[in-house]
Amino acid sequence: MKNKKIITLLALSLALTACGNNNQGEPANIENTEVTSGPSTEDSEGVVRPSTEKEKSEENEESSVVYASFYPIYNLTKQIAGDKFEVKSFTNLKTESHGFEPSAKEIADLSEAGLIFINGAGMEEWAEDVEENVETDFVNTSENIEYIKAEGGHVHDHEEGEEDHEHEEGEDHDHEHEEDHEHEDVEDNDHEHEDVEEHDREEEGHHHHNHGEFDPHTWLDPENGKEQAKVIADKLSEIDPANKDYFQANYQKIADELDAIVNEYSEKFSSVENKKFIVPHEAFGYLAKRFDLEQIPLNNLTSTGETDAKVLKEVTDLAKEEKLKVVFYEKGGSDEEAKTLANEIGATAEPISTIEFASDEELENEVTYQELIKENLEAIYNSLA
Ligand SMILES: [Zn+2]
Repeated sequence: MKNKKIITLLALSLALTACGNNNQGEPANIENTEVTSGPSTEDSEGVVRPSTEKEKSEENEESSVVYASFYPIYNLTKQIAGDKFEVKSFTNLKTESHGFEPSAKEIADLSEAGLIFINGAGMEEWAEDVEENVETDFVNTSENIEYIKAEGGHVHDHEEGEEDHEHEEGEDHDHEHEEDHEHEDVEDNDHEHEDVEEHDREEEGHHHHNHGEFDPHTWLDPENGKEQAKVIADKLSEIDPANKDYFQANYQKIADELDAIVNEYSEKFSSVENKKFIVPHEAFGYLAKRFDLEQIPLNNLTSTGETDAKVLKEVTDLAKEEKLKVVFYEKGGSDEEAKTLANEIGATAEPISTIEFASDEELENEVTYQELIKENLEAIYNSLA
């Protein structure tokens, strides 16, 4: 019985990897947990920081392990679980999360765990297939969040007939239409080629990673992060009711920090006139919506490759017109393209984090989700003020 299951898992894994992509990376989820539990930084502000993680993992109790899919979910889970559970990540924490494909071993390990927290909203492209093959409980942390439609948020400005090609190159943004980034429903869109979009979406499923119906980057809005943390705290409270107060107190600390951040930046952003910022990939839709800003993406929702020449030209023109001072590049990634563009428009290239992965230093220091969110908001604010 057990063997049969393993064979199924192997077959599944082969099927998943057959699609091919750039992100198999090191199969390092378990090792990563070691890395991140590293030298325990004492939390100057008090209670929550899970500093006894190491002792806990040495006990190695199978039942005390919970999984979390990638960095923001992993970090929030660690903060809330504290020393009550060992938290393992299911992806390599140090590489980009889009297009991750689990190995057979990773799937087999996951099948031993009781539950995994995922971001949901289609971020974990592997989740649906894997979930069918493991007993593990998949907890969608974004279940209460109103998703932004993947296609609905953008207006196509290209000529009829070029859609397919341009779409694949990430050419799906019309930055002329200032209001359109707020649209959440297909109905809201005023353009006529809805049918083409539907077609595009299917086409794209074949050529790319599953794009999904929604913008998956919910966690980049701190209000959403708070909601997602709540789901984690409630689930842990449910499976370990004896420690409910502990989990809820840890959650409350995160919620308070995030509330303070939202208040601070709502005020700051309301005072700036320019609301546009150039980002490496289209990850900041939820954040932009929260603070009434507009992201100008160089790449689409899941792609982080080189920018299509036509997009680059449009962004360049727009950036000159709007006198944008900063071109953001993916923190931990290449700054080459951003620098080229920045030079051309008299701006500077600066890092911004999608929080989809973390650096060695961030992992060692157990940099929190809240700290990374604040860092981003401050960087965006400084680019606009
Ligand atoms: Zn992304």
